[in-house]
Amino acid sequence: MERANFVAPIDILPLEDWLAFSDLPVIISGPCSAETERQMLETAVELVKIPQVKIFRAGIWKPRTRPGTFEGVGKKGLKWMQKVKQETGLLLTTEVANPEHVREALDHDIDILWIGARTVVNPFSIQEIGEAIGNADIPVLVKNPLNPDLKTWLGAIERLNQMGLKKLVAIHRGFSFFNRSPYRNAPMWEIPIELKRLYPGLPLFVDPSHICGNRELILPTTQKALDLEMNGLMIETHINPSKALTDKNQQITPAQLKEMLGKLVLRRESGGFEFEQKLEGLRTEIDKLDEELMEILARRMMVVEEIGKYKKANKITILQLKRWSQLMHERIETGVKMGLSREFILKLLESLHEEGIQRQINVMNQDDPL
Ligand code: PEP
Ligand code: MN
Repeated sequence: MERANFVAPIDILPLEDWLAFSDLPVIISGPCSAETERQMLETAVELVKIPQVKIFRAGIWKPRTRPGTFEGVGKKGLKWMQKVKQETGLLLTTEVANPEHVREALDHDIDILWIGARTVVNPFSIQEIGEAIGNADIPVLVKNPLNPDLKTWLGAIERLNQMGLKKLVAIHRGFSFFNRSPYRNAPMWEIPIELKRLYPGLPLFVDPSHICGNRELILPTTQKALDLEMNGLMIETHINPSKALTDKNQQITPAQLKEMLGKLVLRRESGGFEFEQKLEGLRTEIDKLDEELMEILARRMMVVEEIGKYKKANKITILQLKRWSQLMHERIETGVKMGLSREFILKLLESLHEEGIQRQINVMNQDDPL
């Protein structure tokens, strides 16, 4: 992952300063798309029975990858949203992709705006949306861009913040990629983790529906996100998912959401004095082991350089494939016996080999003292 080495100072309001409820995680739920007034109301009436659900979502304007598919009901859906609020008291959020959407949403009592993955990639759009929001004191949820680029995500958040918006939340919805995978959008957890490291005060939610693309993976993915201390969830629900006009494989019923929430384990960041003491002991052990590991790695590299010098003196090539494949084979066998996974040993060895080769290249290229 490319690191963003420069971060602008951002001024973000903590969630509890603008949400009237304090239980975490915050849960946003509702259909991918507003389809009919009835679908909206039936879904919302079920959702409001789940105490943790406080915010209702629905896409009114749908950014579809290809034309010729359902592109959202448009403005009339906002009236249905208003009805949802009247009947359930849930807060409302919808996706905005241009200034006109912002104006319509603000005119229809939408409480929170969200900016989708396809819009976040474009700084011009973010600028226009920020300008259309102007002084309206409305929270904005910023999804990650389609491509795995932390800088674009950060850039959109920083831009909105510099335009005066302080009620901002980042939403992790996974990243487009080419390889086959069980996920619709690769989670690449290292990217939201890096975002959290850079901006610890910025609330970070997860949208497991768009990461997974199918119902089955939503529970484990949500659990993982909570274990990474994400502060909220956006989960798509539909009263009848098999009939949904968009994203039907990933939508669940409100009843399934309720069941799933019951299975989630909420782990705390801290577990009291005794727990902290025990943890401290184990962490000291890890620190010691890591130090030993560094020493061993440094010694290993010194031996590698010795070999490099010897090869150089005897005009032997650096890469010795036969030796390398034999070593891999033996190490994997030993490591697996010790309970390490094959994939882990492979990654580790490959990285050691790469560094070793680089060291030997340096040795080969060094001018010998006369
Ligand atoms: C959505 O939330 O329905 C949506 C279109 O999301 P994303 O922008 O993450 O694809
Ligand atoms: Mn969707």
